[in-house]
Amino acid sequence: MRNSRRNFLQQLAVSAAAMPFLTFEQQAYTPVPHNRQGRVLRVALMGLGGYATRVAEAMQSCKRAKITGLISGTPAKIKEWQAKYNIPEKNCYNYETFDQVKDNPDIDAVYVITPNGLHHDQVIRIARAGKHVICEKPMAINAREGQEMVDACREAGVKLLVGYRMHFEPNTLEVIRMRSAGEFGKIMFFQGLSGFKIGDPTQWRLDKTLAGGGAMMDIGIYSINGSRYMVGEDPIWVTAQETKTDEVKFKAGVDETIQFQLGFPGGAVASCLSTYNMNYLDRFFMTGEKGFVEMQPSTGYGPIKGRTHQGALAQPHVMHQTLQMDGMAEIILDDSQPVVPVDGLEGLKDLKIIDAIYAACATGQRQKLSL
Ligand code: NDP
Repeated sequence: MRNSRRNFLQQLAVSAAAMPFLTFEQQAYTPVPHNRQGRVLRVALMGLGGYATRVAEAMQSCKRAKITGLISGTPAKIKEWQAKYNIPEKNCYNYETFDQVKDNPDIDAVYVITPNGLHHDQVIRIARAGKHVICEKPMAINAREGQEMVDACREAGVKLLVGYRMHFEPNTLEVIRMRSAGEFGKIMFFQGLSGFKIGDPTQWRLDKTLAGGGAMMDIGIYSINGSRYMVGEDPIWVTAQETKTDEVKFKAGVDETIQFQLGFPGGAVASCLSTYNMNYLDRFFMTGEKGFVEMQPSTGYGPIKGRTHQGALAQPHVMHQTLQMDGMAEIILDDSQPVVPVDGLEGLKDLKIIDAIYAACATGQRQKLSL
C-alpha cells in the first residue's frame, strides 16, 4: 500500500489534470510521469541574497532547469557567482540593464528573489522583455500590484509562477492526495502556526516599503497558502487580531503578531498564527470527520515530518527547490499542470487574503473574501 502510494507520489508532482482548485469531493487527480528528459529551462537569478544562494545550490541537482544568467546590484557577487556557476559575462546584468535580457537567447526565464516591495516593477519589466517570470513569495505587497503583474504577463504572453515550493513537496502532496481521496472525510478544522523570532532590526524585512508589511508577508503567508491547499478550498471570510509588544522594532505597518481565522465554503474553519516574535512555530494540524494530519515542521526546508490517523508520513526528502525548479520547467516548457497551482492567480489569491487580514485588524470587522 505504502509502496504504491510512493510510486503514485513520485509521479504526482505535476499532473495532467488541467483543473481549477476543487473541493475533495469534486477532485480526481490524473497522475502522469514527470518529463525529466525534455528541454532544459535556462534561468537567470535576480537578487543574489540568502534565498537565491539556496536556490542556486538546489538547482545543481535539477534535470530540467539550470542557471544561465545573473542579475545583481553587487558587482563582487556577480564575479563570485560567475566563477562558481560558469556564467559568461554576456549573461550578467544589473538592475539598470536587465531589460536587455530581451535580446539574450540563453535566458528563457528570470527568477526574482529580491525584497517583496521590488517584485512588482521587476516582474513587469521582465514580462515586457518577453521572458517567463518566477517570482518569490509574497508575489507583491498588495492585491492591486499582484493584479497588475498578472495582467502584464498575460499581455506579454509569458508565464508568471510564484515560488510556492511546498506545492512540489512529496509529504505535502501525499496529504493532498489523501484529502482529495476522502481519507480524512469532510474537513472540519485547520490550524496553521507560522513564525520565528526575527533578529537584526535594520533588515529589509522590517522596512514597510521593502517588505510591504511584517511577519504576515514573510511567514504568515505559509499558513494562508497552506490552509488553502490542505482544506482544498478557497476561504470566503476572514477575521483577524493584531498584537504588538515592540513598537520600536515593529513600526507602523510592520506586523509583529497576527492571529486570524478563515471560513471555507464547505464549512471548515481555520485558526492561524503569524509572528516575528516566537520561535518553534512551523506546524499544521487538520482534522476531518474520518481522520487527521499533523505536520511539524510543515513548511520549513525539511525534511517535513508528520503523521496522520493512518501512520507516519514517509515520503523521501529531496531539496524543495530542486523539485520546484524541475516542476516549474515542466510547467513552462511542457505546459504541465501542477497538483496545486503555482501561477500568478494563485499568488494573487494570497495577496487578497493578506489585504483582507490587514483590513480586519484595522476595523475589527469580519471581511468577506471573493477569490
Ligand atoms: P536577502 O536580503 O538575503 O536577499 C535579497 C537580495 O536582493 C539582496 O542580497 C540583493 O541582492 C537584492 N536586493 C536588491 N535590492 C535590494 C534592496 N533594496 N535591499 C536589499 N536587497 C536588495 O533576502 P532573501 O533572499 O531572504 O529574500 C528574498 C525574497 O525571497 C523575498 O521575497 C522572500 O520573501 C523570499 N524568500 C522565500 C523563501 C522560500 O522559502 N520560498 C525563503 C526566503 C526568502 P544583490 O546584491 O545581488 O542585488
